[in-house]
Amino acid sequence: MAKIYFDNSATTQVDPEVVKEMLPYFTEKYGNASSLHAFGREAYIAMESAREKVAKAIGASSKDIIFTSGGTESDNLAIQGYVNANKDKGKHIITCMVEHHAVLNTCQFLEKEGFRVTYLPVDAEGMVSVEEFKKAITKETILVTIMAANNEIGTIEPFREIGAITREHGAVFHTDAVQAITKVPIDVNKDNIDLLALTAHKFHGPKGVGALYVRKGVRLKAQVYGGGHERGLRSSTENVPGIVGLGKAIEMGMAKMDENVEKMKAMRDKLIETPLASISYSYLNGHRTKRLCNNAHYRFDFIEGESLILQLDMKGFAASTGSACSTKSLEPSHVLTALGIRQEQSHGSLRVSLSRMNTMDEVKQFLEVLPVVVAQLREMSPIKTWDDYSLRGEDHHEEEEECHTANE
Ligand SMILES: *Cc1c(COP(=O)(O)O)cnc(C)c1O
Repeated sequence: MAKIYFDNSATTQVDPEVVKEMLPYFTEKYGNASSLHAFGREAYIAMESAREKVAKAIGASSKDIIFTSGGTESDNLAIQGYVNANKDKGKHIITCMVEHHAVLNTCQFLEKEGFRVTYLPVDAEGMVSVEEFKKAITKETILVTIMAANNEIGTIEPFREIGAITREHGAVFHTDAVQAITKVPIDVNKDNIDLLALTAHKFHGPKGVGALYVRKGVRLKAQVYGGGHERGLRSSTENVPGIVGLGKAIEMGMAKMDENVEKMKAMRDKLIETPLASISYSYLNGHRTKRLCNNAHYRFDFIEGESLILQLDMKGFAASTGSACSTKSLEPSHVLTALGIRQEQSHGSLRVSLSRMNTMDEVKQFLEVLPVVVAQLREMSPIKTWDDYSLRGEDHHEEEEECHTANE
């Protein structure tokens, strides 16, 4: 049976070359990067070399890179760290409705702490309106946090325009670039980015290690107190093997970015075009062109995305609904809701996310199986028309459940 992995927005395979680079830092070069002896210096040098690789990938200076445990921690440190250190300047934050929970839940927490948050709406393709943003930003705004690209539907947000406008207003701009790194060119200076979150496991590096770019002069309050590592912003003995892996993974991803993007785009376009042309009642979620090279996100009426995932899994394909609550409750994802998609329709969602390790042959195998599975599920489904939904008379207003399923 096929064993094909199409869930690369959730996490990626660690490149064997990355593993190879990391291994000596577990067993031979295991020094603490803060120690003064040769073991410590060796670890320190490796860590600083990784810092330079991360900095180079985003046009930053290595002095401005802080290593963290991943995207979630970087988002938290950026947002909470900035607003808590700069409350005196204002209490208004701007974000958008389709952010990752690492950003959304942090903003919701800060509302309880007395900050005011504007959650900008998005259009039907998941795009934040720059005009709406201009109306929302005021003298009270201290922080703007808009993602570079969306993890569910793949839409690339107008982060450059938003960065420039934020700069004109004298506020600070944070972007969650977790999905964009190694896929969308980013330069923190040209793009007016002050804070940027990334994580290694989304680009063939190890899990549990990430980084936050902090522009010189941008003051943050630490979230973790201790020995003063990472310029006092993130105490705890550095994860040297992980950091080495992050450095290698970002270096590899950047070295062949154009080539990889072209390869993934060709696969993505085939994944998008074939089913939409041949399966009835099928739609694309997200923007057709301003879209991550590795994301295809569909909607099929009259079936459940969860059943689709399970059927595909039985045939050896790993995909996702792209919604963080998929297995625990039938609440649709906040992203699809923000697009204005009817709840019944959002249930039939499927995300296929590629990496540079996938092949066109895998895509072709998938495209043979997908229409068969969709047809089978529709055959079994009691719901065959829109009228059937109203006949079922479901109560769609149950309390929202906590989301615990780690999907991206
Ligand atoms: C995966 C992801 C995160 C979380 O990163 P972790 O390293 O898993 O904490 C944050 N934002 C986006 C957009 C993501 O896709």
